[in-house]
Amino acid sequence: MAIVETVTGPIEAADLGETLIHEHLMARDDAIAIQFPQMGTMREDPIESVSSAGAEDVANEAAANAQERGVKTICDPSAMFLGRDVGLMKRVSERSGLQVVPCTGIYTYDYLPTALLSRDADAIAALYVHDIEQGIQGTDIKAAFIKCAADEPGVTENVEKLHRAAARASVQTAAPIMAHSRPASDTAPRQIEIFLEEGVSPEKIQIAHCGDSPDADYVESILAKGVYAGLDRFGIEMYLPYDQRMEVAKALLERGHAERIFLSADSCATLDWFEPEAAKQMAGAGLIQDWTIKMVHDRVLPDLRDAGMTAEQERTMMVDNAVRWLTG
Ligand SMILES: [Zn+2]
Repeated sequence: MAIVETVTGPIEAADLGETLIHEHLMARDDAIAIQFPQMGTMREDPIESVSSAGAEDVANEAAANAQERGVKTICDPSAMFLGRDVGLMKRVSERSGLQVVPCTGIYTYDYLPTALLSRDADAIAALYVHDIEQGIQGTDIKAAFIKCAADEPGVTENVEKLHRAAARASVQTAAPIMAHSRPASDTAPRQIEIFLEEGVSPEKIQIAHCGDSPDADYVESILAKGVYAGLDRFGIEMYLPYDQRMEVAKALLERGHAERIFLSADSCATLDWFEPEAAKQMAGAGLIQDWTIKMVHDRVLPDLRDAGMTAEQERTMMVDNAVRWLTG
């Protein structure tokens, strides 16, 4: 039986169980956290300030909230520039029993530090392979997948280099790739093209944030390439309102795509991107709503069941797809 790495060690893929494919126990800028820890961060539920040191308590609460809803595993795509901290992930996992699957990779829309500007895709791929085969941040915790991103600037030269690095590390280790995409900028086709050029099999590729598109045909055009698509931002109303996200999800289920779809919220137990007051205003203006690790189980799944989702489709999306994507 295939093995999947978690922050508490390898497990049998069959033991992944109910899985949320894209949730962050903590998201923050690595450099800010080290240089200006006094800035603190924001918890998302309820929105309020929390000290950097308090982020772990909030992560523990998020883990408990997931478990109470029957979630056995989360994939946490916090990579470099999202404050990846496998020590924190491990403590939260041990305390709660929630299985946490960590990644390697770099989350940037273009910027790279000089140390990475000066290195080529192969050198960066070697960093990823180290995390996958040796361990992350000096631990023996191994990365189970590789993260990269393309957003509004598109697939820039730097972004392309990171996609090639992710692809080469994937080919070398068989680890799958999760690629943040931006449907409004139609980044996915070029992202997939690069992966395929580098020899990655489509079933190793997950294109995140496809659910930000209001157009089921668009998501279907991505699925036609044989990859997985994330409908993974339920609650982020400013990118697409909930009702429209549901229409796309229902249409894709009706068209028989359960085997290639993930449902998640991209929640961040804490996030340093916004001042809490600004975030409260965003929530008040309806730009975010119920955007937490509880979202999929409290709203999305019940609404999809009401709309006719079968138990088999639900199991495919919430259990089997994670096994297949993570193990190839
Ligand atoms: Zn994310």
